Amino acid sequence: MKFRSKNNIADIIRESKPIVIKSSLISDELTGTMTERKFMHDAAKILRSAEAGEYNIITIDIDNFKFINEIYGYDMGSRIIVLFSNILRSVFPEDALISRFFADNFVILHRNSGEDFNMQSATIYEEKISDTTARILGKEYRLTTSSGIYKIEDLSLPLSYMIDCANIARLNGKHDYGISKKEFTSDLEQTIRRKNDIVRTMEKAISDREFQVYYQPKVSLTTGKLVGAEALIRWICADGQRRFPDEFIPLFESNGFIRRVDFFVLESVCQFLQRNADVPCVAVNFSGISMLDEDLVERISAVTQRYNVAPSRLEIEITESAVVNNFEPMVKQTAKLQSLGFTISMDDFGAGVSSLNRLKDLSIDVLKIDRAFLGETELNERGVCIIEHIISMSKMLGISTVAEGVETPEQANLLKSLGCDMVQGYYYSRALPEADYLDFTANYEIK
Ligand code: C2E
Ligand code: CA
Ligand code: CA
Repeated sequence: MKFRSKNNIADIIRESKPIVIKSSLISDELTGTMTERKFMHDAAKILRSAEAGEYNIITIDIDNFKFINEIYGYDMGSRIIVLFSNILRSVFPEDALISRFFADNFVILHRNSGEDFNMQSATIYEEKISDTTARILGKEYRLTTSSGIYKIEDLSLPLSYMIDCANIARLNGKHDYGISKKEFTSDLEQTIRRKNDIVRTMEKAISDREFQVYYQPKVSLTTGKLVGAEALIRWICADGQRRFPDEFIPLFESNGFIRRVDFFVLESVCQFLQRNADVPCVAVNFSGISMLDEDLVERISAVTQRYNVAPSRLEIEITESAVVNNFEPMVKQTAKLQSLGFTISMDDFGAGVSSLNRLKDLSIDVLKIDRAFLGETELNERGVCIIEHIISMSKMLGISTVAEGVETPEQANLLKSLGCDMVQGYYYSRALPEADYLDFTANYEIK
């Protein structure tokens, strides 16, 4: 007889038995709290005669609730939800409207009592939750929750919008080990607006050629010569406003658009290399998301062939965290690219969960030492010690080293004395638009 694995069973339970049990229109059968429908009706009625700032919408849920279902089973999950709703009832005043919208997601309309009730109640329910869960799940499981608070100032806004705001605050809270509580603020609203703006305009930005590739020169410490450049994307909006990669790349990684962007950059770089046969090798950043695509290697090859660019003129940069998180597929992809003649470099080395021992299994040509080791303003001893060891280890493995973020001649000299092969940073040049980079290469003088 064939047994199903534990994960499969958990998946089947999750898919076949949704935890939403709403046979009544008024109260949720599992917890006895209000249904969503009743909540929307009653809350709207209360808010019709409320004053600005009188009420809050609070949304709360249990962190990683699906793991309770997976590890302890569906019945235990239901039990925890019931206990959790009882705790909420005991913590919030009687006139608060408490509703379970779905699964472990509760929405509460709560009247401000003048004092900081929310802070107090968070501590109370934190204690109650850990006591109760320790009793039923055992001391080793620490259940935590996240809540978002939206203070209702503008009563003309739709109730669903207010709940969305509380949810946005909840999702933006600190999800570290502990109870997370976050209030919806105008700063958060602006951040969300900016993010929405980016997502709304990203497709058009590609077709309108608002994305541009800039080139940051890379210099050899042994010869002092210019040995290449890193391609860095810039977003210059039609109104002249500039957006920087740290703002949009993480968003593109979360919605998958990064695949388009990485190939847009690769294509622009190949066109540039085709037009300029003399410029040295260019490094292109590939996100961990793009690297996982099965047809990645074929697509990269197709682009280089289309523009007649030899793979030896391109370097593929992958961040260390991307490698650590998906080690096996990354080993395969990088090996394939290397066999075709591309240079592989590991970016931001040392910034994440260091994977020193993994270097023995992963074949890379270049290691880029994260700029954090150089320190914000001055060289610190620990940073120097780490750089020294990274360089000597790389040498033993036959891997070249590049130090990023070099801003002063002192840093450059020190790196040279430590045996670092190449440097990149503001001391030499910032990332430059194509034409300026060509000027830079034509007029470059060894420092
Ligand atoms: P990264 O790959 O580590 O790129 C180096 C970043 O350090 C660049 O920021 C560069 O402008 C900056 N930098 C260079 N020299 C110095 C220096 O001397 N001092 C300081 N403080 N900073 C220096 P940038 O261009 O804002 O890019 C940020 C990150 O965005 C990049 O980090 C990379 O992870 C990502 N990124 C940029 N372009 C692309 C792209 O085309 N594709 C992908 N997937 N990611 C990209
Ligand atoms: Ca990089
Ligand atoms: Ca880097």
